[in-house]
Amino acid sequence: MKTDRLAAVRGMNDVLPDEAPLWEAFEARAIDVLRAYGYRQIRTPIVEHTRLFARGIGEVTDIVEKEMYSFVDQLNGENLTLRPEATASVVRACIEHNLLYDAPRRLWYIGPMFRHERPQRGRYRQFHQVGAEALGFAGPDVDAEQILLLKRLWDVLEIGPVRLELNSLGSAEERARHRAALVAYFEANADALDADARRRLHSNPLRILDTKNPALQPLVEAAPRITEYLGHESLAHFEGLQELLAARGVSYAVNPRLVRGLDYYNLTVYEWITDRLGAQGTICGGGRYDPLVGMLGGRPAPGCGFAIGVERVIELLREAGERGDQTACDVYVLHQGGATYLAALHAAESLRDAGLDVILHGGEASLKSQMKRADASGAAYAVIVGESEAADGEAAVKALRAATAQAPFAEQRRVPLAQLGEAIAGALATEQESISGTN
Ligand code: ATP
Ligand code: MG
Repeated sequence: MKTDRLAAVRGMNDVLPDEAPLWEAFEARAIDVLRAYGYRQIRTPIVEHTRLFARGIGEVTDIVEKEMYSFVDQLNGENLTLRPEATASVVRACIEHNLLYDAPRRLWYIGPMFRHERPQRGRYRQFHQVGAEALGFAGPDVDAEQILLLKRLWDVLEIGPVRLELNSLGSAEERARHRAALVAYFEANADALDADARRRLHSNPLRILDTKNPALQPLVEAAPRITEYLGHESLAHFEGLQELLAARGVSYAVNPRLVRGLDYYNLTVYEWITDRLGAQGTICGGGRYDPLVGMLGGRPAPGCGFAIGVERVIELLREAGERGDQTACDVYVLHQGGATYLAALHAAESLRDAGLDVILHGGEASLKSQMKRADASGAAYAVIVGESEAADGEAAVKALRAATAQAPFAEQRRVPLAQLGEAIAGALATEQESISGTN
């Protein structure tokens, strides 16, 4: 009987070994930059109670309305959801474990998020975010600090121009007054709205401003702007942020139409956008969410955070020709089976003791075809434990990518097995020195 071909769930991607080094390179640099600003990692579960997101994201948002992977645990009847974002989870964990009682916190996370959206370039059903949350800081200093952190990250990654768009959503009261003006404006122009906008008119009119429908742009462009509804305090916060950005030479554009998908945002909101990814050009979104800790049952504490869409940044890195470290090992060990295999096994383990990454050839093959494998592995050195070498308690060492004829082991040479680790670790260090010396 023919079995079904098994495939991954639509919109959920595998990251294959040729691609994984790029992810590792991104993650390593992102973690470096987060640490440079004093952020500490937090890991929360991928599954949470559905009510956390309903409360913490908002019932009338795109995410809660139609994008969540929610299910009933058949074994105990609990309503659970695969996390569509991590801010609500981080805040839940902070409240649950009392992390905010004595000091504010700078936290970061990384991991998969799940949203049931129509898969397309840059939009997947399982995607990844690296995010940060600063809890207990009223800003605007931390708002600016997070923007500086992100700018540093884009610079370190060398992903080319990314522009910053900034807005202030004010306070809940200011938003309510703006919202009333928006509803009146869109009601007066109801004929011009599309079905999506009409649906949002009374549930989430702010989100109409975020429409991707080109036909609605002129209408949306002329809509009442939140900026006109900001009071003294909100304006002072917004201006304070802009002064700090200017002091550090960060360029940005104020976009009065910029809103965020989540209900709980207030004051600062921003997006980092590139033109090189087509329609899905936002690589990071962030801003303040001062009401959230209180909304989720904690003692009120202000919050500010961002989330980076990792797949989109990876695509920019790929386009910039970055591939990450593709080498599988430092040393490839060849043998001729039987007793030579055992000698090669001991040699490989002693090389690992010396801190080297080693592939020991698996199975039997001619030395010639093993040498081809060694070459393809990207290893710097081949170690050959053939019958004659093993008989003498030695191995032959050959540099596979020697830069010069004078480089260690440019010419194949025998080394006693007992000295192998030291010899190759030393040779690698010499090579690395000469590389960094020429830079
Ligand atoms: P959009 O308006 O494009 O749906 P959003 O407001 O839902 O965006 P956020 O919740 O702010 O997005 O998520 C932050 C970042 O995560 C986005 O800027 C984007 O880079 C990335 N992201 C969001 N949804 C997806 C997805 N389905 N696939 C891949 N990346 C995503
Ligand atoms: Mg979305």
